[in-house]
Amino acid sequence: QTIGHFFDDMAARVADNDALVSRHQKIRFSYRALQLEARRLASAMLKLGLQPGDRIGIWSHNNAEWLLTQLATAYAGIVLVNINPAYRVSELEYALNLVGCKALISMTSFKTSDYLEMIRTLAPELATAKPGELQAARLPTLKTVIQLSSDVVPGMLRFADLVAGGDADDPQLAVIGATLRATDPINIQFTSGTTGFPKGATLTHRNILNNGFFIGEAMKLTAADRLCIPVPLYHCFGMVLGNLACLTHGAAIVYPNDGFEPLSVLQAVQEERCTGLHGVPTMFIAELDHPRFAEFDLSTLRTGIMAGSPCPIEVMKRVVRDMHLEQITIAYGMTETSPVSCQSMTDTPLEKRVSTVGTVQPHLQVKIVDPESGEIMPIGSSGELCTLGYSVMHGYWGDAEKTREAIDDEGWMHTGDLAVMDAEGYVNIVGRMKDMVIRGGENIYPREIEEFLYRHPAIQDVQVVGVPDPKYGEELCAWIILRPGQSADEQSVRDFCQGQIAYYKVPRYIRFVDAFPMTVTGKIQKFKIREAMKDELH
Ligand code: ATP
Ligand code: MG
Repeated sequence: QTIGHFFDDMAARVADNDALVSRHQKIRFSYRALQLEARRLASAMLKLGLQPGDRIGIWSHNNAEWLLTQLATAYAGIVLVNINPAYRVSELEYALNLVGCKALISMTSFKTSDYLEMIRTLAPELATAKPGELQAARLPTLKTVIQLSSDVVPGMLRFADLVAGGDADDPQLAVIGATLRATDPINIQFTSGTTGFPKGATLTHRNILNNGFFIGEAMKLTAADRLCIPVPLYHCFGMVLGNLACLTHGAAIVYPNDGFEPLSVLQAVQEERCTGLHGVPTMFIAELDHPRFAEFDLSTLRTGIMAGSPCPIEVMKRVVRDMHLEQITIAYGMTETSPVSCQSMTDTPLEKRVSTVGTVQPHLQVKIVDPESGEIMPIGSSGELCTLGYSVMHGYWGDAEKTREAIDDEGWMHTGDLAVMDAEGYVNIVGRMKDMVIRGGENIYPREIEEFLYRHPAIQDVQVVGVPDPKYGEELCAWIILRPGQSADEQSVRDFCQGQIAYYKVPRYIRFVDAFPMTVTGKIQKFKIREAMKDELH
């Protein structure tokens, strides 16, 4: 089935349920209203000259228009290209040209409103162009720029005007609906750029619709659920684990704000009586540590997903205890696998839920292999996790070579993540192959030392990386963020480790910092910590 067919069925079943509450925009859509608006937009896109298979970029924070665009492109068979709103001129140029976008939807609700300047820098020709007829030297495929604000900007088409020209019953939509296949590409998502430059993963209806469905199943979502989504839509966390998990279960989507802001999340949960909440670990930490946390009634919460990076056991215990998220699940995956391949269930014993990423999702296979030989590792031994099944991407857009490196002849996606599986099938992610530290011949998983240091009462957050060392090959380095009002020095951290972990796991370098280098999805870029240390130690 395609996303459009599935959504039409759902909209008929739960027509009057809330589909979307976008709090910062004060916009609400029932399932029926969302369906009509998305179909109008789809029709309008076709009238603009876009055709099935064409690419349209969306460069925006979370808002109702994002969700409408996601559904409209699915109806029209147009490939949606998620562009990170933090991208600057050269990244935007790279992304648009890499996938050959014909249109770009760019929003004005940017907190940093220099977006208009950036577009004009890339396409000065815009000022004199008619929508649909842009010819820009630096963006050769781009024909139209669509924008959200009510302002009139020369050369740009207003989103509201675009939708107004569409027809929800456009016969073209039925024609396209009848010819689209579930295996057609519908989405290009860029990876987070945690380990280097982002790659564009091409995903099909079948990839992301099924994944969203099984994610919702693991959370036991129903049409009575209301899920608060502070995670970004331009990333699979918001788009698939959020939007699609809800829409495949008739549940309501709640956007607390356009970007992450802990207070608006707490307010949204209380006022919208949310039953679910998503977040990366750093978001949950910011909510729990918010000075006004205790003021909010979060008792409606039940489930949600913590994912995206290693989920510290202490943070999991706190969200269960202090946020009523007794049925929170952990998911593991990557953009290239739509994304989720392992997830705990709401009824997975808490002990397993806090210490593993759960078991393999239905209809997928996971194996853990020796990265050198490809042999399957024994239960309990670590190796590279590989995924096989419906969720594996079509490929990296325009990069057959990288695709072949990532997906082998049998279809296994090689994730680059190191994992261990126990006898009951629970998977534990122990690190990334690129992050593993080899000190004097000993393999060290930074994650293990991070977990240990989280127990230090003054430490709020910690990242451990390897830095080059002439004697041992690599040495360990810990970057530490202290809890507000707490203090600690290098020696006291070392004393804390002494006798508790093997001597070679005690970080040689300890630095106290205010923040870590992060992607805008909140993922910590260890390669930048390594670079900074290299510069410092040079
Ligand atoms: P890039 O591929 O550009 O370096 P990225 O891999 O961070 O960036 P994503 O596809 O967004 O981009 O993230 C997938 C990665 O996130 C996984 O490969 C894994 O390393 C990490 N990850 C995801 N979920 C978890 C989890 N629950 N526990 C530990 N790590 C996780
Ligand atoms: Mg990756």
